[in-house]
Amino acid sequence: MTIDRYANRFVCDLVAYEPGKPIDETARELGLDPAQIVKVASNENPLGPSPLAKSAMREAMEEAHIYPDGGGYKLRSAIADTFGLDRSNIVLGNGSNEIIELLCHTFLNRDAELIAAKHAFVVYKLMATLFGAKYVEVPDPGFIHDLAAMADAITPETRLVFIANPNNPTGTMVGQEAIDRFMDRLPEHAIAVFDEAYYEFPDNPPDTLKYVREGRNACVLRTFSKIHGLAALRVGYGVAPAHLAELLQKARQPFNVNAIAQAGALAAIADADHMEKTRQLNRAGLAFYEDSFRARGLEFVPSHANFILVRTGEGDRVFRDMLKQGVIVRAMSGYKLPDWVRISIGTQAQNQRCLEVLDAVMTAAASV
Ligand SMILES: *Cc1c(COP(=O)(O)O)cnc(C)c1O
Repeated sequence: MTIDRYANRFVCDLVAYEPGKPIDETARELGLDPAQIVKVASNENPLGPSPLAKSAMREAMEEAHIYPDGGGYKLRSAIADTFGLDRSNIVLGNGSNEIIELLCHTFLNRDAELIAAKHAFVVYKLMATLFGAKYVEVPDPGFIHDLAAMADAITPETRLVFIANPNNPTGTMVGQEAIDRFMDRLPEHAIAVFDEAYYEFPDNPPDTLKYVREGRNACVLRTFSKIHGLAALRVGYGVAPAHLAELLQKARQPFNVNAIAQAGALAAIADADHMEKTRQLNRAGLAFYEDSFRARGLEFVPSHANFILVRTGEGDRVFRDMLKQGVIVRAMSGYKLPDWVRISIGTQAQNQRCLEVLDAVMTAAASV
């Protein structure tokens, strides 16, 4: 008998999150030079970090012996300013993933329910499991969140409804009208969580911050990991009415966002140039993949984000075969999509290489 049987049952039930395969690990396993490997598996920014963020971080290193500002004064103020909100509306997280956890800490228990779409970001389900709550999964025909069905699924026990917009891994987006109608139906005992990790990529994303301004039960999640190219720093934030933000603040660790990350993020906010370059590169890359998939008769899901879901058949095999040639994509069997892979948009050279390798492994399979 081991200590395991005394462990929290909800932890035992968890299936750990499987991240994109790291470059170094792949290089070790294949005996390749890490520099030859193309990783298009985690929706990272192919242009790298914002250059302004890099120099701010170098400077911040000099003060690494001092604890960070646990209140995140400068960063929260700067974020609030960009939205015309108050600092009291902003909660910083160790990635926006941590805000998801703080929401669950604050509102979930064994009697509570969390609602999400069938092909939504998998972390919602992990968190619901961890807190012993009921995870309610709503079908998403055409891979698009069905907000009317999600509103129908709300019960007196519902506390959190997650709307990932654009969603990962599908890249689909729901529009303003559907969101407005959903918010009309949201009862006072539930919170709409708009996970907007890819908010900066689409041309006309819906406005959900208006619900925060109106003091509704809404929490908007954003991150520095995607458009700003700072995934390694682990910094994201939640935007919520002050009384809700205050609750989330209580649930976090005192120094949850480190000082280097705060400095980098603060500089990145001002780097409009890097954001615009990222958007342009992404737009071109999406068009490249969509044209290429169309030409090959491959089914894909039109994307509003910085990745694209494509139906290759045998996603696990395609992932493994591409890996052997040094291209890391993401298999989707964990998302109940065993026939699909998700490809993050890279530089033009990375996109071309990825497509060549995809062609090669699909041709090889067809000729067996
Ligand atoms: C990438 C992503 C996040 C953000 O992750 P971080 O913890 O901020 O790096 C959140 N939600 C979705 C849907 C994502 O794809």
